[in-house]
Amino acid sequence: MVQTLFWLIIAIIIFDYLLEKFLDYLNYRSMQYEIPDELKGIYNEEKYKRSQQYGKVNLAFSMITGTFSFILILVILFTNGFAFLDSYVISITQNEYLRALLFFGILGLGMDFISMPFQIYGTFVIEAKFGFNKTTAITFVMDKIKSWLLGAVIGGGLLLFIMWAWNETGNWFWVIVMGGLSIFMIFMTMFYSRLIVPLFNKQTPLEEGDLKLAIVDFSEKAGFKIDNIFSIDGSKRSTKANAYFSGMGPKKRIVLYDTLIKDLSEKEIVAVLAHEVGHYKLKHVIIGLVMSIVQSGLMIWLLSMAISRPELSLALGALSPSFYMGIVAFGLLFSPISTVIGIFTNMISRRHEYQADAFANGYGYGGELINGLIKLSVASLSNLTPHWLYVFFNYSHPTLLQRKNAIITNNYTS
Ligand SMILES: [Zn+2]
Repeated sequence: MVQTLFWLIIAIIIFDYLLEKFLDYLNYRSMQYEIPDELKGIYNEEKYKRSQQYGKVNLAFSMITGTFSFILILVILFTNGFAFLDSYVISITQNEYLRALLFFGILGLGMDFISMPFQIYGTFVIEAKFGFNKTTAITFVMDKIKSWLLGAVIGGGLLLFIMWAWNETGNWFWVIVMGGLSIFMIFMTMFYSRLIVPLFNKQTPLEEGDLKLAIVDFSEKAGFKIDNIFSIDGSKRSTKANAYFSGMGPKKRIVLYDTLIKDLSEKEIVAVLAHEVGHYKLKHVIIGLVMSIVQSGLMIWLLSMAISRPELSLALGALSPSFYMGIVAFGLLFSPISTVIGIFTNMISRRHEYQADAFANGYGYGGELINGLIKLSVASLSNLTPHWLYVFFNYSHPTLLQRKNAIITNNYTS
C-alpha cells in the first residue's frame, strides 16, 4: 500500500507536468508569424510581432521553470527529502504543533528561495525587456518580506486551527473545521481590501474632475455608491492595467488601476466600471464565495478520511506518521481533483465575465467596453489567439475576440 501510494504520487506529478507542457505546446502551435485576419484592426504589424515575441519568451520561460520544479519535486521524493525535513524538526522539539509550523515554514521559505532567481528573472529581465516592469528592487524585497509574514500569520494560524480540531474534536472535526474556514473566508472576502491590499498598495478615492462626474452619472443610474470606487497605484509594479470588484455588503468596492485610468478614455473607463458593477449586481462575488466554501468542504471531508491513515506519511518515507507529512501526501494526491475543480471554476468565471459584459452592454457601453478591452489587450501584448483547449483549462476570462463577438451579436453563450 505504501509503495503503491508513492508511485501513485509520482504518476500524478508526471501527468500534471505532461498536461501543462502539452497545453503550452498547443498554444505555441497556434501562434502565427503573419497577423491573422481576425486581429487586423486590433494589432498593427509591429505590435503583433512584439506580442508573438513576448508570448514565445514566456513559453520558453515557463518550459524552464516548469521543468525545474518538476525535476526538483521528483528529486525530493526519490531522496526522501520530506522525511529528512521531518526528522530534522523532530530533533528540534517535542511539541507537535511547533513541529508542524517549523516543517511548513522551512518548506515554504526553502521553496521560495529556490524559485527566487526565476521570479527575479521574470520581473527584472523579461517584463523589463518588454517595457512592463516598474517594480524596484526595494519593492520586490519588501513584497517578499510582507508575503512571508502574511503567509506565516494566515497559513500558520489555519494550520494550527486544523491540527487542533483534528486532535481535540473527534467526530466533529469536519463540522468544526468547515465552520471555522467558512467564517474565515467570509471575513477575508469582506475585509480583503481593508486589511490585505493596503499592505502592498495605496487605494485612494477618485479625484474630483470630469472622470468622477461621468462615473457619478453612471453610478446613480446603476445604483452603486460612488464612495465605493477607488483608484489603486498598480503603476508601482507594472504598466499593465486592470480593474476589479471585491468585497460584499457594506464592504464592497470597485478598484481601478491608475494605469487603466491613464490608458483609457473617460467613456472606456466608465464602460469598464459598468462591467465591474455588473459583477456586483449579478452577485458574482457571493457565488464565488459559496463555491470556495463548497470546494473546501469537499477537500476537508476527503482530508478527514485520509489523514488518519499512516500510509500517507510512510509513502513519503517518514519513520512514523505525523499530521503534517499526511497533509503533504494528501496535497500531492489531491492535485487531479484540484485540476478538475479549476476547470469548473474557470468555466463559471468565464460565464460571469460574459454576464458582466452583457450588463455593461445593457447600459449602452458595449462599444466602449470593446474599445477599452482592445486597448488593454494590445498594451499588455496579450495572446489573442490561444488554443481553445488551453483556454478551457486555464482562462478565467473569455478571449478578447470571444468577448467582442458576444457583445456585437448580443449572444453571450459561446
Ligand atoms: Zn470581469
